[in-house]
Amino acid sequence: MNSAIPSPTDAASATGALPRAAVLLPLPLAGAYDYALAGAEPQRGLVVRAPLGKREMLGVVWGAAEGGVAEAKLRIAAPMPHHRVLPASLCDFVDWVARYTLAPPGAVLAQALRVPAAFDEEIFRPAFGRGAGTPDRLTPARTRVLALMDDGLVRTASDIAEQTSVTPSVVRGLADSGALVSSPLPEFSPLPLPDGAFDNVTLSSDQFRAAEHLREAVKSHEFSAHLLDGVTGSGKTEAYFEAVAEAIAGGGQVLILLPEIALTVQFLERFAARFGCRPAEWHSDLTQRARKQVYRAVMSGEARVVAGARSALFLPFQDLRLIVVDEEHEHAYKQEEGVIYHARDMAVVRARLEHCPIILASATPSLETYMNAKSGRYDWLRLDYRHGVAEMPRVELVDMRKDSEPGRYLSQALRGALQHVLESGEQALLFLNRRGYAPLTLCAACGHKETCKNCSAWLVEHRFRGRLVCHHCGFETPTPVHCSQCAAEQSLTACGPGVERVEEEFRAAFPNARVAVASSDTFSGPNETQAAIRAMSKGEIDVLIGTQIVAKGHHFPQLTLAGVVDADLGGGAGDPRAAERSFQLLHQVSGRSGRADKPGLVLLQTRNPEDPVMRALVAGTRDAFLEDQIVTRERSQTPPFGRLAALILSGTEGDAVRETGRLLAASAPKARGVTVWGPAPAFYQMLRGRTRERLLVQSGRNIDIQSYVRSWLADVKIPSSVHLAIDIDPVSFF
Ligand code: ADP
Ligand code: ZN
Repeated sequence: MNSAIPSPTDAASATGALPRAAVLLPLPLAGAYDYALAGAEPQRGLVVRAPLGKREMLGVVWGAAEGGVAEAKLRIAAPMPHHRVLPASLCDFVDWVARYTLAPPGAVLAQALRVPAAFDEEIFRPAFGRGAGTPDRLTPARTRVLALMDDGLVRTASDIAEQTSVTPSVVRGLADSGALVSSPLPEFSPLPLPDGAFDNVTLSSDQFRAAEHLREAVKSHEFSAHLLDGVTGSGKTEAYFEAVAEAIAGGGQVLILLPEIALTVQFLERFAARFGCRPAEWHSDLTQRARKQVYRAVMSGEARVVAGARSALFLPFQDLRLIVVDEEHEHAYKQEEGVIYHARDMAVVRARLEHCPIILASATPSLETYMNAKSGRYDWLRLDYRHGVAEMPRVELVDMRKDSEPGRYLSQALRGALQHVLESGEQALLFLNRRGYAPLTLCAACGHKETCKNCSAWLVEHRFRGRLVCHHCGFETPTPVHCSQCAAEQSLTACGPGVERVEEEFRAAFPNARVAVASSDTFSGPNETQAAIRAMSKGEIDVLIGTQIVAKGHHFPQLTLAGVVDADLGGGAGDPRAAERSFQLLHQVSGRSGRADKPGLVLLQTRNPEDPVMRALVAGTRDAFLEDQIVTRERSQTPPFGRLAALILSGTEGDAVRETGRLLAASAPKARGVTVWGPAPAFYQMLRGRTRERLLVQSGRNIDIQSYVRSWLADVKIPSSVHLAIDIDPVSFF
C-alpha cells in the first residue's frame, strides 16, 4: 500500500473524534459493521480499507453507524486513494439483490468488488519522450534512438530498446543527458471509443421501426423494458446496435449481457465490424490485469460498451444508459452457486435503478418475458421475417420407432438428407446435446453401471481419450478392461450416443466428408470449439457435429440442413420448464439452417412425434405453444402463476444432511397459500462427495415468499457441517 495513505489501526484512543459509519465487508456476514472513519466523511459507497480480526480488506461505507459498539472496541477504517465511491445505484442494487435472493448483503457486495486492485493508487509505467538536451557524443545506437523518438511519442524504455535494438543502458545514458525526458505512462492504454457511425447497415422497414423505438427509449433516460422478439436471423442484433449507438452518442455507457463466453468471441468481432472496435469484455476467463483495466474503465466512464457474462451486472457503471440481454431465455443466465440469482431478472432491476431502458432479445422468449410483453408491462417489438431473401427452414420429424436400426443413431432419412447436402456442396449441422462417446457404460455380463465415486451419476465414456469421465465433478479414470463389479473381461458396453459416437457413425457412412466436432467439454476447450466453428464459417468443413455450443447465435450462410439426433433429450423430471426449454433449444438449432439464399431443412429424430414440442416445431406455432404452456403452468400454479423457492442442503455427513432436512421440514411455519414439499433426495443425491437433500416451497403469486423463508430460517439452527443454499425462482431441479 502507498505509505501516504493512513493505515487503519487499532488505536482505540484515536477514534473519539472520528465519525462513525457502518461498513459492509464483502463476506457472507449478517450485515454491516461499525467502524470509525479516518480521513473522510462517511458517504454511502465510499470504498475503505477495514481491519477484520487479523486481516485487512476492502469494504464499503453502507450507511450510518448502528451504534452499540463500545468506543474502546471500535476499529478504524480509512478511504482508498482518491476516495473512490461506488455509485449509489450500485449500492442500492446490491441491497436489492440481497433482499430478493436472501443472500447476505456482503456476499452480494463481493460480486461488485471482484477486483480489489482497481482501488489502489494508479501505477505508472516508466517511459520517456524526446527532451531538449543534446548528448555529449553520438553513437550509432544513440542516433537510432533519437531518430525514433523525434516523432514526439512517449515510449517505455523496453519499447525503445526493442524497437531500436539497443541496450537499456543506451536509453539511460540519453536520459541522463536530457535528450530523453522521463514521462511516465498510465498503467493502461486508453480503450478505443466505439463509433456508432463506423459501418451501419440499411435497415429493413421492420428493423427500422424497432430501432427507432429503441433509440427513443434511450433518449428518454427512463426505465422501460422491451422484448425484441424476432425469428432467428431477423436482425435483432442489428436493431439493438442502433440503440447502442444512440447511447454512445449521448455520452453514456451500455451493458450487453451474453449467455456464454463461447459466444462472446463471435459477438466481439461482429461488434467491431459495426462500431470500429471491440467493446470491453467481462467474463471469468480474463486475466487479472484485464479485469483491473475494465473495472477501472467502467468506474471512470471510459469504457462505453461492456459485453459480458452475468457477473458484468455488478460492475460500477458511472452512467449506464442501456442494458441489452441477448438470448434472454437462456438458462445460463442463472447463477447456480454462491449468490444464486437470475441475471436476466436482476438486469431488469438494475435498469430500473439506473433509470435506463433494457432490451431483452430472443427468438424464443421465456414464458415469463412473453407474458410480461403480452400484458403490456414490457414493450413488444416483433421482427417476423428473416433478413433478405432467407426464409424460415422447413421442419420435419423422423419417427425413430420406424426409421432406425439397432446401434445406429442416424436414420435413413437423415442420411439421405446429408448425402444431398454433401453432393450440392452445402453444409450441415448435426446436433446432440451429449458430450463424449456414450452417456452410459454397462457391463454386458452383470448389468452393472459404471458410476462416479463422488456423485450419484453415470460415468460418460470419452473414447477418443480412452477415459470414463464424470460430467459433474470432473472425476475420470481410464476406461477399464474389466467390469468393476463382476470382473468380466471386455464386457463393458457403451449405451446410447454422445457426439463422438455420432461422429464415428457419420465418418463410416461418409468417409470423404470433412467433419469436425464442437463440444462444450472442458478438455477439448474453447479454442478447439472456436477452431471448429471457424472452419465451418470458412467452408473448410462440410458437417459440424456439436452439443448446444453450436446451437446458438452462429451464422453459417451455406448451412442448409440441421439434423437433431435425439430431439427427445431435454426432459427433466419434475421440472415445470422442461417443455419450454426443449422447445427453445430445438428452435435455436433449427434456426441455424437456411439463413441465406438457400432454403433450409431441419430433421428432428424423435420417438414422440405427438409431443406438443415436436408438433409446435413442425407447425411453427410458437405462440400457440406458449399459450398452451401458460395453461399448464396456471393449472399447476407454477411460475409465473405461483412462486417457488428451493432449499438445498448438502454436506459430507449424509446423516446430518438428512436429519437437518427433516428438522427443517418439521419447523416450516404453517401459512395460507404456502406448501412445503420434501425433504427429498435431490436428483443427484450425491455431487462432489456431498449428500444433497431438497425442500421446495411453493406459494401463490402474491405471497412474499422471501419473508416466509426468512422467518422460517430465523428459528432454525443449521449444523455447521451442513450447507444450506437458497434458490429463489429455481430453474433447475437437480
Ligand atoms: P438475429 O440477431 O435476429 O439472429 P442478426 O442481427 O444476427 O439476426 O442478423 C442475421 C444476419 O443478417 C446477420 O448476418 C446480419 O448481419 C444480417 N442482416 C440483418 N439485417 C440486415 C440488414 N438490414 N442489412 C444487412 N444485413 C443484415
Ligand atoms: Zn462425479
